[in-house]
Amino acid sequence: MTVPSAPGSAPLLTIEGLRKSYGDLLVLDGIDLTVERGQVLAVVGPSGCGKSTLLRCVNGLEATQGGTIRLGTQTITDPGTSWSRVRQRVGMVFQDYELFSHLTVLDNILLAPRAVQRRRRSEAAAEAEELLRRVGLHDKRDAYPRQLSGGQKQRIAIVRSLILHPELMLFDEVTAALDPEMVREVLDVVAELAADGMTMLIVTHEMAFARAVADQVVLLDAGRVAERAEPEQFFTRPRSERARAFLASLD
Ligand code: ADP
Ligand code: MG
Repeated sequence: MTVPSAPGSAPLLTIEGLRKSYGDLLVLDGIDLTVERGQVLAVVGPSGCGKSTLLRCVNGLEATQGGTIRLGTQTITDPGTSWSRVRQRVGMVFQDYELFSHLTVLDNILLAPRAVQRRRRSEAAAEAEELLRRVGLHDKRDAYPRQLSGGQKQRIAIVRSLILHPELMLFDEVTAALDPEMVREVLDVVAELAADGMTMLIVTHEMAFARAVADQVVLLDAGRVAERAEPEQFFTRPRSERARAFLASLD
């Protein structure tokens, strides 16, 4: 669900001319991308094309070598940016998200709201329980991570982000490490967030999921946005040769 920005108001995320290299390896070579509030973008592309790097740049986990990233009107690539504050606005869940093994599910979820946002335990715990109920894991609040399946751990990782009230969620291959029978339960949670209007960038290999949930599909290739289109168009009538080659490589 895309909520069009009011005339004159900034997109939630604006990336302009973003460049990122690791040593001599140029990975992002001038990425331009905007995401409106409420929009869900699926980011796809061949392995190694820079999908994870792009998300990591948005979350300040990588230094960048050129271009700008704006969150609303705040240019987060400016020196002096408080990444702790940015990470409260931008949640990220990745493939091998690690929960703290010595903490219960509830205490894992409460860590950031307590330590970073200084929220009262009783108030944050009440919200944590509500979120656990939403992802079907309320009965696991006192369990330890080792007692959970991979799919359950990923749902807890999502709750851990949501309790900070992010404006934007980044998902990087959140189902790639899961056994097939657990993929659905995690994708269902992501789809529900999309339906609720959460703004999201979703890196995924699950093309059926991208097609069903995304408002737009973005194909990265050779460090650039090779194509951006609505899912129906992207999967059935791709405009670029790059997109045709990528789709052909999937079967
Ligand atoms: P994707 O997520 O699309 O598979 P990545 O963003 O992980 O791609 O990686 C893009 C390229 O950058 C790859 O060639 C990868 O080997 C390289 N790369 C990623 N992280 C690092 C790093 N920390 N140091 C050096 N090279 C890296
Ligand atoms: Mg990756």
